[in-house]
Amino acid sequence: MNKSIKGKCFCESVTFSFALPILFCVHCHCNYCRHAQGSAFVTWVGVDEAKFSYKTGENLVTWYKSTEESGRGFCSRCGSTMFYKSSLAPGEIHIARPYIDSSLELKPNAHVFYDQHVNWIAIHDDLQKLDSDNKDLSTYSVIPKKNLF
Ligand SMILES: [Zn+2]
Ligand SMILES: [Zn+2]
Repeated sequence: MNKSIKGKCFCESVTFSFALPILFCVHCHCNYCRHAQGSAFVTWVGVDEAKFSYKTGENLVTWYKSTEESGRGFCSRCGSTMFYKSSLAPGEIHIARPYIDSSLELKPNAHVFYDQHVNWIAIHDDLQKLDSDNKDLSTYSVIPKKNLF
């Protein structure tokens, strides 16, 4: 599959595209994501960085080093927190789902860091729920990557 998927920040200064297939799509409930994004949880789409490219506004993307291993990229004009990269997941860029073309029928297949979820939202689905003590979670290797586009 070589269909090109598009995305953009809120102010549309930063635009990007990537080729399918994606690596994964998960809801992340970790404390870092919650505070960085200002939401109960964040739905991330994992993409092979070699298949990702900026179309416009790459120079507007500021990377905040959120941990020793990881950084979060946001649009310095509108503040959209679009990207995550980590040495724990080399060769991958994680894109927050809301910034990807909404017509893409991406189906999240897991909740990750679920033990850190907030108690002010109710989750009622049948997706697998992975907790922080899962030793493979930091590399995302535990998430099944098959049958996702
Ligand atoms: Zn922007
Ligand atoms: Zn997270």
